[in-house]
Amino acid sequence: MKTMIYKGYELSDQTLQKHIKEVFHKGGLVVFPTETVYGIGADATNPEAVKQIFKAKGRPSDNPLIVHISKNSDLELYVRDIPLIAKPLMDAFWPGPLTLVFNKKDIIPNEVTGGLSTVGIRIPGLKIARDIIDIAGLPICAPSANLSGKPSSTIFDHVASDFEERVDIIIDGGKAEIGIESTVLDITTPIPVMLRPGAVTKKMIENVLGYKIIDSTETKIEDTPKSPGMKYTHYAPKGKMTLVDGNEKEVIQYINQEIKKHKKEKTAVIGASEYLDQIDADYKVNLGHLNDLNEIASNIFIALRQMDELGIHYIYMHTLSNQDIGQAIMNRLSKAAGYKIVKL
Ligand code: AMP
Ligand code: MG
Repeated sequence: MKTMIYKGYELSDQTLQKHIKEVFHKGGLVVFPTETVYGIGADATNPEAVKQIFKAKGRPSDNPLIVHISKNSDLELYVRDIPLIAKPLMDAFWPGPLTLVFNKKDIIPNEVTGGLSTVGIRIPGLKIARDIIDIAGLPICAPSANLSGKPSSTIFDHVASDFEERVDIIIDGGKAEIGIESTVLDITTPIPVMLRPGAVTKKMIENVLGYKIIDSTETKIEDTPKSPGMKYTHYAPKGKMTLVDGNEKEVIQYINQEIKKHKKEKTAVIGASEYLDQIDADYKVNLGHLNDLNEIASNIFIALRQMDELGIHYIYMHTLSNQDIGQAIMNRLSKAAGYKIVKL
């Protein structure tokens, strides 16, 4: 299949708009940028189109897709009931990186939700993404644009390497600003449950609601059947990744020792610049400064993908604060490391 590649700023072009609309309406696939990660999108009301997403990604069919809409008033078209707490959350965080889980209407086929009676919906914060949804004139279901099991794509090169020749259109919107997938919050239960941490943090949600929510990521992931996607291994690089937790001095000493042990193989350290200066590895990937967790978040998936591109055998990284967006970062890193964390 020939993939057409366009730039986000070309979207005002009428011919391009016509092409995008046609692709969505005939059940095709469009990869597009959002503020979290790139998405691979299809018409969420067309089961055949939805199946194509699972096929292109190699995604297990019980892993639900998030439906993207462009305005609050469209929500009622796709969900059976809108709990009272939805409004303050939407007012505070939409458009933005918060997916809310509702009871779905029949117009959203089971293919989208992996057989669940609920559907995750959000309005993306990036205007290019909302424009694409408006051009389509459809709800767009879009999981992260990566082959299943690989880290999510946050830059054009990574979506192109996974999906060129496999989708109809790729829209290049540059680097994703946040770089980590949306927070997922189930509001179908009496007390909302955070199913996946993201840039909208638990604290931010609790501040809006005025009470505590349940954090399912604190319990064992396998015990959370309500969010099927969480049970699959994600993001894992081919090399062996280890997270090292402890004070800065101990961590640096430990990683330097480990790297010496693996002299004959390719080693890499991913980390904040403050740590990297003191570590000796074949490759070092600088995520940014320790005091800027947002910058670090935006570079995590790029770094993980680089590990495979470079053929690294052993990867080390220090842990980060679990506060604020740190919880989402540590959630993704722990998965990437297969939960291998050395505590010093
Ligand atoms: P992705 O778009 O690849 O980040 O995947 C979307 C993720 O959102 C899934 O893997 C689930 O963990 C979560 N999700 C989407 N829809 C639902 C839903 N209806 N109920 C629970 N979790 C959901
Ligand atoms: Mg994904």
